[in-house]
Order: sequence, then structure tokens, then C-alpha cells
Amino acid sequence: MIRRTLALPFLLVVVSCGPALKPLPPMAPLPEPPSESPGPVNTPAPSGDRIAEPPARDPALELLRERGLLVPVKGIFASQIPDTYDAPRDGARVHNAQDILAKRGTPVLAADDGSIIHVGKNTLGGNVIWTTDPSRRFAFYYAHLDHYAKGLHDGQQIARGDVLGYVGTTGNAPKDTPHLHFQVVRIVSGKRYSDGPPVNPLPLFTQMGITR
Ligand SMILES: [Zn+2]
Repeated sequence: MIRRTLALPFLLVVVSCGPALKPLPPMAPLPEPPSESPGPVNTPAPSGDRIAEPPARDPALELLRERGLLVPVKGIFASQIPDTYDAPRDGARVHNAQDILAKRGTPVLAADDGSIIHVGKNTLGGNVIWTTDPSRRFAFYYAHLDHYAKGLHDGQQIARGDVLGYVGTTGNAPKDTPHLHFQVVRIVSGKRYSDGPPVNPLPLFTQMGITR
């Protein structure tokens, strides 16, 4: 009897490897961003030919994780997003982002409080928006927008849940698969914000996509 049941736990592990669900936090006011100077964060020390160890602690990322992000498409829960962070794209590169599928025209929402760095266009992303988090240590990239919300401009202050634009297929998105390509990167001094190291946003989503 014991032997017969051995295969079952293994099967359950195999089929339950989807993204972890996190309970929604209470709707408490957001904490104020830290006002002190952040100082250098995780500056890797020169290590000769040794491969650098990952940092034991990442205070900026811990702060972002504590605050959590809103799923940036209206009506979508984190559990509906298949994890494509490590998926290959165009042969050579890795996705390093999440694709959030929704009907064309669904509102795209600010994932966090912050400000708009840039509203623009590029070949892969089509109509895109770059924003920051409140600490200005992370940048958020929203791509393939059908169109922008009216009146958006660089430098504008935004709040979590504000409508930034609408889901579409601009750039290299398949024309029959409207989605938001959403990326989070670290802002690193000496690098252009768009070239910062990426962070997987999926484990950071703690709030479904609702407008403010
Ligand atoms: Zn994508």
C-alpha cells in the first residue's frame, strides 16, 4: 500500500510548477520612499578571474518586494501570467520580461507610484513608456501599446493604477496577440536606465490590475 502511493507526490510536484501565488496585501497606504542617500548598492568588487558571487542581501530589491507591484493590465491577476522571463527570443536573446495577454484596448496601468522617464517609440517595442519606482532605483518598461493615455509627458508624476496607455501590438508583437511586454530593470549609475540589469517582475506582483 505504501509503495503504490510513492509516485503520486512526484506527479504533483511536476504539474504544480507554475508561478507562485501570493495573497493580496491589505490596501494600506504606501510607505514613504527612503529619504536618506542610498549610497552604493551591490557594487561588485573586482574579483580577478573569480566569478562574482551573487550578493547576500539586496536592500533595494527587498524594499521593492515588500512594497509589491500592481499587475499593469486592468483586470489581470498575477496567476494569469505564464512565466516567460527566461524564454528565448529571436534565437540569441532571453526575454527578461513578462508578456501579459489581454484584449486590444485594455487599459495599461502604472505598476507603482513614480514618474515618467520617457514616452516614445522603438522598432521592437513600438509605442513604449519608461517610468521609475518611487525610490528611482528601478525602471519599468511598458511596450507594444496600441496608443498612449492622453496628455502623458516625460517627467510627469504618476500613481499606482493610473492609466498609461492601452494594450496593442505595435513593434514586433504578433498582430493577432495583443499583449503588454513589461520589464523591470535596475537603475545603475554610469549606465543608461534602459541598459540596467533586469529583474523578474512576476514574483513582485502582489495586487491585481485595478485602476486607481
Ligand atoms: Zn515580451
